[in-house]
Amino acid sequence: MDITLLGTGSPMPDPKRGGPATLVKAGNTTILVDAGRAVVMRLTAAGTLPIFLNAVLITHLHSDHLTDLNDVITTHYIMSQSETPLHIYGPPRTQEVVDATLAALAPDISYRLAHHPDTLTWQPNVVVTEVQPGMSFSVGEAKILVGKTNHAPVEPTVSFRIEHEGTSVVLGGDGIPCEALDEICKGADGYVQTVLRADLVSLVKNKRFLDILDYHSTVEQAAQTAQRAGVKKLILTHYVPSIQPGQEEEWRALAAAHFSGEIILGDDLTTTSL
Ligand SMILES: [Zn+2]
Ligand SMILES: [Zn+2]
Repeated sequence: MDITLLGTGSPMPDPKRGGPATLVKAGNTTILVDAGRAVVMRLTAAGTLPIFLNAVLITHLHSDHLTDLNDVITTHYIMSQSETPLHIYGPPRTQEVVDATLAALAPDISYRLAHHPDTLTWQPNVVVTEVQPGMSFSVGEAKILVGKTNHAPVEPTVSFRIEHEGTSVVLGGDGIPCEALDEICKGADGYVQTVLRADLVSLVKNKRFLDILDYHSTVEQAAQTAQRAGVKKLILTHYVPSIQPGQEEEWRALAAAHFSGEIILGDDLTTTSL
């Protein structure tokens, strides 16, 4: 199983980091988790395209995790040579978001249908499944388990555990540690967690920025979750603030103080195998 951090940024624009998005390749199954800024560019750089995705999983409906879902939908649509469904799994209200996205794309879709009457005779076929913690389902060769996370006041939010031939990875999404997260991470080979540095965020004397401290795992908390759950490899992403060149080891050391396994972090397109 290969995990690629497609986008390691956050809502704060960074020319070198796309928004939250992670690619999981498990055998012949390709799964995208979240679809932040620049996701289609990074997917292409990772050697795949929206039409090759077996599914898109959405952890929650914060805009930074969704902002380029429209690009995934459109690129999937225009590159499909026959009517092909795009499967999206996400928490309740995902259908509402997808419907609104398709509504925003309505003029574009009408132009394409008018321009290619012989070869494009269908609308985008987006199949949304709204998921709840405790649910499980299959995508290609992979089995997916849905967990609960704590990203209050954002509700509902979910994590995903992807299992394939005895290997597993948990995508924790945003949130602070909680029992349900420990539970779904238990014994996983990999655990991808979005993180912030409380020490650095605290330096910015801006109330709205400081507000984010109470609903994101710090680097240390992600490491503690990984340690409690007996995870083999901790994969950090969604860096707030962005990791600056040369700071990687400082971030790694903060996690290593609480977690004895391997720690992966880096730029967009960092890939690790489980
Ligand atoms: Zn986020
Ligand atoms: Zn969020």
